[in-house]
Amino acid sequence: MELEGLRGDRSTFTSVIEACACLPDLTLGQLLHYRMITLGCELDTVLGTNLINMYSRCDVPDKAIEVFDAMHNKSVVVWTAMIAAHSQQGQGLEALELFKRMDIEGVRADKVAFSLVLDVCANLAALAQARILHATVAGTELEQDMVVKNTLVNMYGKCGKLNEARQVFEKMASKDMVSWTSIIAAYAQQGSASAAFELFHAMQQAGEAIDTVIFVKVMSGCNHAGLLKDARNWFVSMLQDYGLSPVNENYACILDLLGRLGQLQDVEDLLENMTLEPDFIAWMSFLNACKVHKDMKRGVRAAQRLVQLNRRNSASYVLLSDIHAVCGKFDAAAKLRRRIGRDCGKKVPGLSWIEIKDKVHKFASGSRTHPRNDEIFAELQRLGVLMREAGYVPDTEVVLMDVEEEEKEQVLCYHSEKQAMAFGLISTPSGTPLRVVKNLRVCTDCHTATKFISKITGRQITVRDANRFHEFKDGFCSCKDYW
Ligand SMILES: [Zn+2]
Ligand SMILES: [Zn+2]
Repeated sequence: MELEGLRGDRSTFTSVIEACACLPDLTLGQLLHYRMITLGCELDTVLGTNLINMYSRCDVPDKAIEVFDAMHNKSVVVWTAMIAAHSQQGQGLEALELFKRMDIEGVRADKVAFSLVLDVCANLAALAQARILHATVAGTELEQDMVVKNTLVNMYGKCGKLNEARQVFEKMASKDMVSWTSIIAAYAQQGSASAAFELFHAMQQAGEAIDTVIFVKVMSGCNHAGLLKDARNWFVSMLQDYGLSPVNENYACILDLLGRLGQLQDVEDLLENMTLEPDFIAWMSFLNACKVHKDMKRGVRAAQRLVQLNRRNSASYVLLSDIHAVCGKFDAAAKLRRRIGRDCGKKVPGLSWIEIKDKVHKFASGSRTHPRNDEIFAELQRLGVLMREAGYVPDTEVVLMDVEEEEKEQVLCYHSEKQAMAFGLISTPSGTPLRVVKNLRVCTDCHTATKFISKITGRQITVRDANRFHEFKDGFCSCKDYW
């Protein structure tokens, strides 16, 4: 078109940039953006939103912000696109800030913006802020919206507040598949399997269509509660009574349960006989079980399959190295750990969040940038002494670096979840429960340390990691040390 001398107009730019966002194609998208500038094309809501989406999907957040800042009279759609861009980049705090700024600038949230920000709160477990948001829409049309209600159920569930999730759910005049899925998932995540089962039957009686996702949720409830027999029955029912084909997540529940019980031969048999090709998560779950049950032979086999699937993933090397270490093969373990740095791509940094009053604080592993860093470190040192007296031994095996033992303990101390916990302890009155969110799996040392901290301080500590909820109380964790 360009070659034939036709100049793109606003609608052509709009649709082509939208296409660039879908692909995504940064080169073409950027070219079009520059062309628009040279043509003096003004940014309206649709064009601006498409540009923000395009840059955000192409992983160039700075450019998205540039477009956003350059726009005058931003509508709620533009604000929402920018909030979504931050959220997709894992910048939940920035997304929340932007939502507040939008409110201050007098732009009213619609249901899309509101649901989006509730999802951000859910991911950060920013319960206090979410409750404020919920209160602001109480009694309005927005509160009656099905999408908003479903998002509220999901948010309360992800913050571990089952009663509140249930209240919203029960008050819904009509429920759809998402409503049922959200409430069942809320109970399942907490390991309240029987409540999840009851809701499944209620859903069925209500005449709602049942799909594989519902079975994944119910079976994950079995998994978190350690119910192998039930999980198997649900699996069979899914196939025979509902004629549904299993997905990897259904198998993952059974594999995890078998692994937890140490039935490693059964895990291996199932992996070989699945109707689907086992995915990365399935083999990781097996490798983790091998580590917990100290089975090096099977662990090596699992690791070989993982390497075939995804050579550059550090998590499998970490687990394999751990297996060697727990089996006493320290040289091999060290060798593997060195390979992690060499062969694997960029590691995802460990991040944790904790909400104090109605402000969310973010901590990054190894970073000492929080304004109250000195107090946080002093608290960790104080706890360290008490923990050692109570029998805690730092698990320095999880530190994947060639440093001295003492230094390793220092590194462990700066894991993001420990920093968040220490900050929670010094910022709240004694007895206040703490709720921490972690972006990755919690490491074995932090898990052990949190058990000690819950006992020493008498606090109930909830850690939601990438896998599940851990409820620490009086020296024990609800996952019974299998996660
Ligand atoms: Zn840790
Ligand atoms: Zn746990």
